[in-house]
Amino acid sequence: TTHGIQIFQYFVYMAIAISLSTVLRAFMARTLFAQFRLERQLREQANTDGLTGLLLRNRFLELAQLALDIHSQQKPVCMLFLDADHFKQLNDEYGHAAGDNALVALAAALRTQLRQTDLIGRIGGEEFAMLLPGLNLQQARERAEQLRLAIRTIKRPDGQLTVSIGAAEYRQSGETVDALLARADQAMRQAKRGGRDRIVSAVVN
Ligand code: GH3
Ligand code: MG
Ligand code: MG
Repeated sequence: TTHGIQIFQYFVYMAIAISLSTVLRAFMARTLFAQFRLERQLREQANTDGLTGLLLRNRFLELAQLALDIHSQQKPVCMLFLDADHFKQLNDEYGHAAGDNALVALAAALRTQLRQTDLIGRIGGEEFAMLLPGLNLQQARERAEQLRLAIRTIKRPDGQLTVSIGAAEYRQSGETVDALLARADQAMRQAKRGGRDRIVSAVVN
């Protein structure tokens, strides 16, 4: 009957329409997903250092300030400043690639034992900073000591890699992240003067 043919045609049209829209949707989802992935990659690249994958200085400081605002009300927060010892010598005697390899290994050592709230940044060439929410100065020094020992196991062509570390605890009086970093940096430089490969705590000034 004509009625039966009409119903049949209706179902054929519906089937075509549904499969077309399904294909189109899958295609659009794919392009959207690829676009999201690209955007995320670009965002990450803009925030992290290409060699070590760690946060770049400005992004680290920005996130560290946020973390201070969030955590410092209820618990202590500490900052470590780490600087590779005699790094220029490694570059000068064994080439820039040897230096780069050491920096990659150093970054990997810093990442071990990382807790969810810790932040690591590459502050300068061979300088790194770590924000440790929830740790007081004594605990931060213990963490620094573990890092110091882990880094000492990294080989350089002329011996072993070492770092000098400064540790500073956030002052509840409302210190900025820059001031906290500056105190950790100052302590690190005191560790250099004291003979390197050691940890020095910052003075409260
Ligand atoms: P100190 O123990 O006092 O810190 O001495 P140092 O030689 O480590 O310090 P200095 O600041 O004199 O030299 C740092 C060197 O780090 C200089 C630079 O060639 C090297 N450096 C910085 N960034 C990079 C990098 O991305 N790759 C390599 N291979 N070397 C780098
Ligand atoms: Mg330096
Ligand atoms: Mg150095």
